[in-house]
Amino acid sequence: MKLKKVIAIAMASAMVFGLAACGNSAAPAATEAPAEEAPAEEAPAEETPAEEAPAEEEAAAEEAAAEDAEAAAETAGAGGNIGVCIYKFDDAFMTTYRNALQEILEGKGYTVTFMDGKNDQAEQNNQINNFIAQKVDALIINPVMTSAVDQIIATVKDAGVPTVLINREPTADQMSAYDKLVYVGCDARQSGTMQGELILDTANKGDINGDGKVSYIMIQGDPENVDAQYRTEFSVKALTDAGMEVEELDLQRGDWDRNKGQEIAQNDLAKFGEDIEVIFCNNDDMAIGALQAIQAAGRKVNEDIYLVGVDALDAALNEVAAGNMTGTVLNDAQGQAEGAVAAMEELLGGKTYAAGEQSIYVDYVKVTPDNVADFQ
Ligand code: BGC
Repeated sequence: MKLKKVIAIAMASAMVFGLAACGNSAAPAATEAPAEEAPAEEAPAEETPAEEAPAEEEAAAEEAAAEDAEAAAETAGAGGNIGVCIYKFDDAFMTTYRNALQEILEGKGYTVTFMDGKNDQAEQNNQINNFIAQKVDALIINPVMTSAVDQIIATVKDAGVPTVLINREPTADQMSAYDKLVYVGCDARQSGTMQGELILDTANKGDINGDGKVSYIMIQGDPENVDAQYRTEFSVKALTDAGMEVEELDLQRGDWDRNKGQEIAQNDLAKFGEDIEVIFCNNDDMAIGALQAIQAAGRKVNEDIYLVGVDALDAALNEVAAGNMTGTVLNDAQGQAEGAVAAMEELLGGKTYAAGEQSIYVDYVKVTPDNVADFQ
């Protein structure tokens, strides 16, 4: 959907090259092994038996490989070393986001190490400390808990490491403690409002049984996360602002997780049956789970129940196209990853952020059967 921007930007700031490349996944940050993608400098000479190739050819191949290795090493070095902390790898949306970040950062010649916080703040704190000890040039952090952000900010400030926070937005007040810190994400209120609008855009505005009110269940993400709080609030607010009466049959936390979404929907469908007109899910992964329960209960989305999510995961786009989800809202992982890297480069170039101006937002976009093809 978006053209990948491969723009080489010469970094003005002096880079520290102390950290060896560390691979692209959960490899411990302290590992000094070269990244998988990095050229294997020694490989050709040792792996090719001398008899198989004439000596001259072999020497030429060796020389070419050495040159390639040198060129690649220079590119990696030119970008500097970036540490990225993800709250947990096992999250559908953050996996898309992580892949986008990796492609952009590596495409620009950075050496990047991703760490899996495993949804454990103590573990993530250690990872941040390790990155700092290794003198990374910048950090990109998706906090496990927004409530722990004060501690994270104090740590990166103390070390003087430019830091971009992503996906879980702290308050402006929290961020004001450090001027080499910026948040890149979305305004979650917007996604909630759009979910409500998706329901208002249906033929009966969500009131399938015509009893004058929209009866819904809300499957919430991790309520510690502002995205979950705002989506829950603003999806319903869009309905009431439009003059609809609403009835909340149930609200439960599904922690952004597909299986939990499925379980909650299954139990609620058994309990409330036909009374449920709308299932709001704070994200698509839970909506896909809810869809499994809806189908198992013999209900048909857009005919006798509505279902909306957020993210525009590939699986959800397919379900919207097939008429099995009423709609979703694009949570633009690519745009946010590009924004995060751009902000990081500005920080590396010496930019500082004034208090109150430390949140950079990427817009959400409503996805319906009418425009879903644009996102696939
Ligand atoms: C996404 C969720 C994801 C969460 C992680 C949200 O913005 O919509 O799918 O699980 O971020 O923090």
